[in-house]
Amino acid sequence: MNRVGVVGAGTMGNGIAQVFATQGTAVTLVDVAPAVIQKALGTIEKSVRKLAEKAGKDANAVAPEVMGRISTSGTLDVLGGCDLVVEAVFEDFEVKKQVLPKIDAVIPEAAILATNTSSISITKLAALTKRPERVIGMHFMNPVPLMSLVEIIRGHLTSDATTNAVLETVKALGKVPVPANDYPGFVANRILMPMINEGVYCLMEGVATAADIDQVMKLGANHPMGPLALADLIGLDVCLAIMDVLHRELGDSKYRPCPLLRRMVAAGLLGRKTKRGFYQY
Ligand code: NAD
Repeated sequence: MNRVGVVGAGTMGNGIAQVFATQGTAVTLVDVAPAVIQKALGTIEKSVRKLAEKAGKDANAVAPEVMGRISTSGTLDVLGGCDLVVEAVFEDFEVKKQVLPKIDAVIPEAAILATNTSSISITKLAALTKRPERVIGMHFMNPVPLMSLVEIIRGHLTSDATTNAVLETVKALGKVPVPANDYPGFVANRILMPMINEGVYCLMEGVATAADIDQVMKLGANHPMGPLALADLIGLDVCLAIMDVLHRELGDSKYRPCPLLRRMVAAGLLGRKTKRGFYQY
């Protein structure tokens, strides 16, 4: 890929832009919120420096080189030269419904339009565009620069050529692509989110404190971080949106979002990004 576009510069978008730029690809990062773009550039530079230092490289040489490959914009019309665009806007079908046709209209006919959605049907998102055979799910994990997995989800009409190109692209990033079929939540969130939701139920019902729930899963299941700390990292709004999709699409009451999760999102306690969730930051 010569130029990659990333739409949405939030938690995931800035990480996705970072890994492509680090690998040597020119990146155009788009977000409607100028403050988010400024924050994203700061986050990327800090992370690039940290990773360079960890690898024993000169951060003062690496950082300007990587940052020099990233251009930013508040509008989508700059995506005309991209071979691949990764959409990473809010996990809300109505928002994606607004954005995807606009991206589809400005990018080259041969370009691939990938979505980083955590749970929404790729087939349904692809149907919003005029290129369903070149739409695919590219589900990066958070934090993107550190996590090697990328779930690759084909929509009903996604072509072999698109799938192969994306598999190669993910490998070139040094990451591991794993195919999953187009079911709500795919594999990662079908398993992870009900666990997080159950952790919130444990907290709501007073089974244990947040710190103790996390400690149990760290020491008892060997997880690197507990479910509530992970929810804060992911964003409570994102967790709720995914649980709502699982509940609605799979129609099983076992996926009902915990009322405490819903209440915290309503209160604006979204986790790390708002400095307060199950923990204070
Ligand atoms: P986020 O809320 O941190 O960022 C979303 C960004 O999209 C915001 O900065 C917002 O300003 C921007 N945006 C909204 N509408 C836009 C538009 N029309 N044009 C351009 N930008 C627009 O969300 P996130 O956590 O980064 O999630 C993004 C996507 O990645 C979602 O589909 C989510 O499900 C998925 N995802 C999230 C995680 C996670 O851990 N947070 C992990 C994997 C996948």
